[in-house]
Amino acid sequence: MSRKSWKEYFMDIALIVASRSTCDRAFVGCLLVNEDNRIVSTGYNGSIAGQPHCDEIGHTMRDGHCIATIHSEMNALLYCAKEGISVKDCRCFVTHYPCLNCTKALIQSGITAVYYHEAYRIDPYAEELFKRSRVHVEQV
Ligand SMILES: [Zn+2]
Ligand SMILES: [Zn+2]
Repeated sequence: MSRKSWKEYFMDIALIVASRSTCDRAFVGCLLVNEDNRIVSTGYNGSIAGQPHCDEIGHTMRDGHCIATIHSEMNALLYCAKEGISVKDCRCFVTHYPCLNCTKALIQSGITAVYYHEAYRIDPYAEELFKRSRVHVEQV
């Protein structure tokens, strides 16, 4: 068996992380990885810690979106905010292309690259923002 590349290795882990999602509108998983190839944080789509999950009480819908859910990328970033962990120059591995809000948060946090698996609802403005901020974006 040939040895996995770092990209394959991290995306495989992101897919496992996604399996913990509690909002079944999208099973999404995310990793933040530093320059030493160490995982700094993980996140999946789910409710605020301590609040009921969509798989228990159903979705809270507004304008066709579940508003109870924190996206995996935000969960990964917010854990770092809570614990005081720098994500500057980290790379993001995420199972789905980030939405616009997550795109803005990732760029503003100093993420240098986004590796995504599924080309899910790619927002052209998100693509433009990544390009302008020179964030490397690649499908894995
Ligand atoms: Zn939900
Ligand atoms: Zn998002």
